[in-house]
Amino acid sequence: MAKLQSGNELIFRVAIAVPVYRLFDYLAPEQFELTHIKPGIRLEVPFGKAKKIAILVECVQHSDVEIGKLKRVERILDEKPLLSTKDLALLHWAGRYYHHPLGEVFSAAFPVALRQGKSAVIQAEKRYALTDSGKAIDSELLKRTPKQKSVLEKFQAHQSSLSEAELSAWNENWRTSVKQLVGRQLLQLAVSEFGTSFTLSAAEGSNAPIIRNNALQCNPQQQAAITAVCDSLGQFGVFLLEGVTGSGKTEVYMQIIRSVLERGQQVLVLLPEITLTPQLEERFRQRFTVSIAISHSKLTDRQRACAWLKMQRGECSILLGTRSALFTPLKNPGLIILDEEHDASFKQQEGFRFSARDVAVVRGKLLNIPVLLGSATPALESLHNVDNKRYRLLHLPERAGNATAPVLQLLDIRNKRMQEGLSEALIAEMRKTLAKDEQVLLFLNRRGFAPTLICHGCGWVARCGRCDANLVIHYDEGILRCHHCGQEQRLIRQCPACKTGELTPLGLGTERVEKVLAELFADKVIVRLDRDTTQRKGSLEDYLQQINQGLVDIILGTQMLAKGHHFPNVTLVAILDVDSGLFSIDFHAPEKLAQMIVQVSGRAGRAEKPGRVIMQTRQPEHPLLTTLIRQGYNSFAKTALAERKEASLPPFSYQALLRVQALDAQMPKLFLHAVAELAKEHSKGHTHILGPVAAPMARRAGLYRYQLLFQSSKRPELHALLNVLMPKIEKLKQAKKVRWSLDVDPVDLY
Ligand code: ADP
Ligand code: ZN
Ligand code: ZN
Repeated sequence: MAKLQSGNELIFRVAIAVPVYRLFDYLAPEQFELTHIKPGIRLEVPFGKAKKIAILVECVQHSDVEIGKLKRVERILDEKPLLSTKDLALLHWAGRYYHHPLGEVFSAAFPVALRQGKSAVIQAEKRYALTDSGKAIDSELLKRTPKQKSVLEKFQAHQSSLSEAELSAWNENWRTSVKQLVGRQLLQLAVSEFGTSFTLSAAEGSNAPIIRNNALQCNPQQQAAITAVCDSLGQFGVFLLEGVTGSGKTEVYMQIIRSVLERGQQVLVLLPEITLTPQLEERFRQRFTVSIAISHSKLTDRQRACAWLKMQRGECSILLGTRSALFTPLKNPGLIILDEEHDASFKQQEGFRFSARDVAVVRGKLLNIPVLLGSATPALESLHNVDNKRYRLLHLPERAGNATAPVLQLLDIRNKRMQEGLSEALIAEMRKTLAKDEQVLLFLNRRGFAPTLICHGCGWVARCGRCDANLVIHYDEGILRCHHCGQEQRLIRQCPACKTGELTPLGLGTERVEKVLAELFADKVIVRLDRDTTQRKGSLEDYLQQINQGLVDIILGTQMLAKGHHFPNVTLVAILDVDSGLFSIDFHAPEKLAQMIVQVSGRAGRAEKPGRVIMQTRQPEHPLLTTLIRQGYNSFAKTALAERKEASLPPFSYQALLRVQALDAQMPKLFLHAVAELAKEHSKGHTHILGPVAAPMARRAGLYRYQLLFQSSKRPELHALLNVLMPKIEKLKQAKKVRWSLDVDPVDLY
C-alpha cells in the first residue's frame, strides 16, 4: 500500500460491479484510519446518481482524472478485508484469464447481502432439536402424517440440532411440519449453538472427537486414493478420482476430510446440483461432529452470507456448496473437493463466465493445498491433464461392497412396433422387473408432451414468434410453450394455415410417455420428474423420498435423474431415445452423451441387486455406443481425445467465443466484422479467427445472434490477443447497439 505523502491527496482505486473494463478513482473519505485501508475492504461510493458498493484495489497518488473532478469515498464498510491476499490474487487472476471486468469478478466472490453493503455480522438463527420424547418415539407412530414423520426421522438420524438454513437446505417445506412437531412436544427450540461446536478445536488441543461413527473398512483401491491425497496435505496437487458410480468415492472424500479436520483445517466441497446437497450433508453429519455450512441458491441471502462468514472466521469446518461457493474465504484452508467434476453446471454460463473446476485448481495452487476432483465420467480435459501429468489419477475400478456393475445393452428398435416411444421388448422387461417388486427408471431428456405440433394437412408447424424454435406441446396445461424464451400460447385445435388439416403431435416428451405408462401399467405408481413437475418448492425432495421409501414403481424423468441420486431399488434403467444425442453439431456433444449414458446407468443396481440398462436405438452399430458398451467410458474417452487431437480441438487448442445479440438483424454481424478486422490486425500465426457466423439458434427471445470464435494452439497467444482486443471492442461504435459477452473455454458453442 502506498504511503501517504504530505500534501498529496490519497486516491482510492476501486472495482465496481459494472460491465466495463476499468477501475474507478475516488478521493479518500473525509476521515479514515490509515491502518484500515487495505485492498479488499468494501467502500460505499457515489456513482452517477446512485451509491454503489466498491472494493478497494489499491491506493495511488496520481489519477488520470483531474483531482477536481473526482468524487469522494463516502463510507468505509470493513475494518479489515474479508478476503485474504491470496484470494484477492485469485480474483485478479480470474479477471485477467476470463477477460472479465474486475468489479463483476469481485462481486461474484461475495454473497449478495455483503455485495449490497450489509455489515459482516453473523445473525443468530433459530435451531431446533428433539425433545426427550422426540428422541424416544418410534417414527412409525407418525405414519399418518408422512411429512412430520420424515422431519422427525431427519432429526433422529441427525443426532444434533438443526438450524433454519440446514432445514431449508434439506427440504424447503419444513416449516409447517416442524411447527406441528413442536406442538406435539417432539421438537423444541434449541439454544443457539454458536461457538460451542467442536470446530477446529481438535488441532487446538481439545480432545473432542471429530468423527461420530466408524468409517467403513476401505478396499485397497480406496485406501490407495486416501493415502495419496493425505500424503499431499499441506501442499498443492490436483488429484482426479475416477471411480465408477457406487465405487465409494464419497467414502474416500470423508476419510480424507477427517485427516484435514485433524490438522485443524477446513474443507470446501463443491457439488453440481442443489438437490444433491441434502444427501451428502446427511452422510457428512452422520460421520462428523464438526459444524457444517451449506451454501446454494435456494437459501436466503442472509443464510448464504452466514455460511460465508462462518467459513471466513473458522466457525465452520466444512462447506458444502454449489458453483458460487467456490470463492468462499477459508480461515484455515486445507482441501478443495469438486464432486462430479465433469458436470457442465460447474461452468457459469452468464455474466462472469468461469469454470469452477479450473478456478478451484488455481485457488488450490495459490493456497498451497490439494484439490480433489471426483467423477465416474471425468471430463476429457481432466483426462488430458492426467496424460500431461498435471493431475494425478486415482482409480476406483469397481463398485464398493457387494454391489455389481450394471449390464448395458443396446435394444435395436428398427422396424419394431412402438407405443409412444416404448418398444414391446422394453415393455416386457419392465413387466418382469416390476413383478419382482423392483423399480424401473426411464430416461427421456425432453419435457412436455411433444416437441412439435404439425398440421397433417399442409405441414404447418407451430413456431415461436421470437426464437428459431418450435413450440412444445404441454397437453395437461393446454398450452404451447417455447423452451427457449418461455413464451406461451393456448393449444390450438385448428390449423391456422389451411383451417382444415388435423394437427398432430410429433415426437416424444415425458408427459406423453407418462400417459402411455399410465395405460400400460394401470396398477403401478408412476412418478414423472422434470422441470414441470418439480417446480413447486420441495416437490423434488418429496418425490425422491417417496421413491426411496419404495412407494413408487416407475420413475420417468429428464436429466435431473442422471445426477448422483441413490435409488437402491432400481434394477432396470432404460434410455428411451439415445439417438437424438448422436447428431449434434457441437463437438462437445459425444462427450456429454457418453457421460449422460454412464451417469444414468449408474442409477441401476446400486445396492445388493444387480442392475441392467437398456438403450433403445436405431443406430446399434454406432461407434460411440458400441465402444461405450463393450469397452467402457475410459476407452470412449481415449477415442474421443484422439479425435479432438486430430481436429486440433480443445483440449489440444484453446478457444474463446464472443457471442453477440441485438434486436437489429444486421448489427451483430456488423459489430463482429469490425471485431474480426481488429483481431486480424493484432493476431499472430497460431490464432485463428473463425466467423462471424450466425449462432446455431440464430434468433432467440426476439434477438438476433451471431458469434466469433477465437481458437489458438498457443494459450498465451490467444490471451495476448484478447488483452489487446477487449478494451478496444468496448469502444467500437457498434458496441453500444449490441449485447456481447466473451466466453473463455466455452463448454458449448451455442
Ligand atoms: P460413489 O460416491 O462413488 O457413488 P459411495 O461412496 O456413495 O460411492 O458408495 C456407494 C455405496 O457403497 C455406499 O452405500 C457406501 O456406503 C458403500 N461403500 C463405500 N465404500 C465401501 C467399502 N469399502 N465397503 C463396503 N461398502 C462401501
Ligand atoms: Zn394445415
Ligand atoms: Zn421462444
